[in-house]
Amino acid sequence: MSTLPIIWKGDADPLAYEEARVGRVFNLRRPERYPLAIVKAREAAHVVEAVKIAIEKECRVSVRSGGHSWSVASVRDNAILVDFGDFHELTLDEDMGVVQVSPSTTSAELNAFLKPKGRMFAGGHCPDVAVGGFLLLGGVGWNARNWGTACEQVLAVDVVTADGRIVRADANDNSELYWAARGCGPGFPGIVTKYHLQTRPLVRAMRSSLYVYPTTKYRAVFEWVLKLTPTFDEETEIVMISTHPPGMDELHLMVLFISFKNDEDTAKHALQPAEDTLPSNPVLHWFCQETDLEKEYVGQAHANPAGHRYHCENAYIRDGEDVVSVLEKALTTSPSKETYTFWYPLAPWSRRELPDMALSLRADHYLAMYTICKDATGDKACRDWTKNIMDEMKRYSIGAYLGDIDLQIRTTKFWGDEQGRRLMDIRRKWDPQGVFCGYLDKGDRSGVDGLDNKLDG
Ligand SMILES: Cc1cc2nc3c(=O)[nH]c(=O)nc-3n(C[C@H](O)[C@H](O)[C@H](O)COP(=O)(O)OP(=O)(O)OC[C@H]3O[C@@H](n4cnc5c(N)ncnc54)[C@H](O)[C@@H]3O)c2cc1C
Repeated sequence: MSTLPIIWKGDADPLAYEEARVGRVFNLRRPERYPLAIVKAREAAHVVEAVKIAIEKECRVSVRSGGHSWSVASVRDNAILVDFGDFHELTLDEDMGVVQVSPSTTSAELNAFLKPKGRMFAGGHCPDVAVGGFLLLGGVGWNARNWGTACEQVLAVDVVTADGRIVRADANDNSELYWAARGCGPGFPGIVTKYHLQTRPLVRAMRSSLYVYPTTKYRAVFEWVLKLTPTFDEETEIVMISTHPPGMDELHLMVLFISFKNDEDTAKHALQPAEDTLPSNPVLHWFCQETDLEKEYVGQAHANPAGHRYHCENAYIRDGEDVVSVLEKALTTSPSKETYTFWYPLAPWSRRELPDMALSLRADHYLAMYTICKDATGDKACRDWTKNIMDEMKRYSIGAYLGDIDLQIRTTKFWGDEQGRRLMDIRRKWDPQGVFCGYLDKGDRSGVDGLDNKLDG
């Protein structure tokens, strides 16, 4: 093992410490929380050593893979932060299509590696989200309404446990950890050092159709896409985004269909029902335009600019609610030009039986608000708008996705009742002393107890 790359708060040059503390954090709203030390792990043995130091010093351990947690959950007071930024592993078993990947690998890096080998992985939409935090959450990746969550492609995880051992967890060995790793989110009772993922064949003809309307047409547009969705082609992702499109001063609704096919004709056929029925006079419109993951990543990076301040919220809407009315305010108002809000239908996946795993809560309709401002003067408007919308919307919700929420502001239901109880039992069993920081709730108090998994409001 090489010498442990560790930066102690007390000893380090303040600039080097600050860079190690938050330099890889995406959200510019950096917290006033100060780890005792940061370990820039390059190999699994460094992670083990970090855990052993924490046990000896009776402090906690936190983890950073890609630094995209909205609440910056990796940065915790007096903890040892294990940062995976310098830890790189990426190998593919071409016969099996199984990739072994280190946690800081981003969606874009993984797919750039797989593409020449004729494979892909439906990871996060944003190019820079790392698999580490994303897969623990479940991972709403490309075409989730049909391909399901990304964690369903996790075959095994290599984990450093709270007593400093390295174990492999899969369906046969350490299966409780494997169960928890697929949906527990940022409260996993271990540190994942490697994922073993099933990839899928590369899609040869990705095509998109786009329809942009003013928000004054909200009802007509939403009712159109809602009617289309249940029978729409199953290899097509559908999303409606409320945003200020480039070059437009007013808030608009963009309805985007992305089909994942292997030839032009099949893609056209899949996208045609939208083209045949579209509401009149879109302000911008294209049909079956050639695209690929790289192009989509560019768009995503533009929509989610680095160096900005983010407030994030979401809800699964109870099936059967009047979703057009429930989401109206969220999709027709906005606190800033940078903000965007999206409705993301999850059926038919939301109606399918799931593998036995922690991830267990979902609905046909998902709504997320990515509330964005350039500097701290915009924080209040963004925070108030987000809270106001959520206060009204949550009574129609069955809970939320752990990936798009700040638990310091709101906790609610994240798993089915039985799965939530089982998850908290597994956490207590695998980390009884609370070596790992766990969920970052208000005041960072939840520790070994974890979350209540109860609806708020
Ligand atoms: C711009 C943007 C776009 C996004 N788009 C999507 C999307 O399309 N779909 C979606 O589902 N989510 C999306 N998210 C949410 C994203 O998946 C989560 O924020 C996720 O936590 C990011 O993972 P990370 O490794 O980059 O985060 P980090 O901040 O590094 O980690 C977050 C937390 O996860 C846990 N964790 C991370 N790595 C490990 C590990 N190796 N072992 C144990 N615990 C670990 C820790 O508790 C850590 O504090 C997006 C987020 C952003 C900022």
